[in-house]
Parts: sequence; structure tokens; C-alpha cells
Amino acid sequence: MAVKIDEGTCVGCAACIDVCPVEALEMVNDKAVCIEDKCVDCGACLDACPVAAITL
Ligand code: SF4
Ligand code: SF4
Repeated sequence: MAVKIDEGTCVGCAACIDVCPVEALEMVNDKAVCIEDKCVDCGACLDACPVAAITL
């Protein structure tokens, strides 16, 4: 499993990158991208995103 990130909604703030405990998120072209093999579905990034671009 992995989170889905709406590219059109993401504003590139990188807040989600900082809270992910397993470093499953990275910035690509100023948008957050989930590395699906690493994500453990903890949900921390959902709460951190100011524009609700991330869903489980
Ligand atoms: S759900 Fe948790 S493990 Fe998955 S990308 Fe978000 S913070 Fe990282
Ligand atoms: S916290 Fe939300 S808006 Fe900020 S980089 Fe992550 S997905 Fe994009």
C-alpha cells in the first residue's frame, strides 16, 4: 500500500517529507512523490499536509 498524492493540489511545501518516519516521500519537480515500497500507511503525512493533497 501507499498514499496517493494529488499532483495538482500539492503546493510543494515539503511538510510531508519531514514527518514521514520511514523516508517514503521525496520531492520530484517540486511535488511530493511516495516511494510505494517504503510507505507503511501510518497516516502522518496526511495530517501534515496543509492542502489535503494526500490520501490513503
Ligand atoms: S503514510 Fe506514513 S509511511 Fe506512508 S508516506 Fe505518509 S508518513 Fe510516510
Ligand atoms: S505536505 Fe502536501 S502540499 Fe506539502 S509537499 Fe507534501 S503533499 Fe505537497
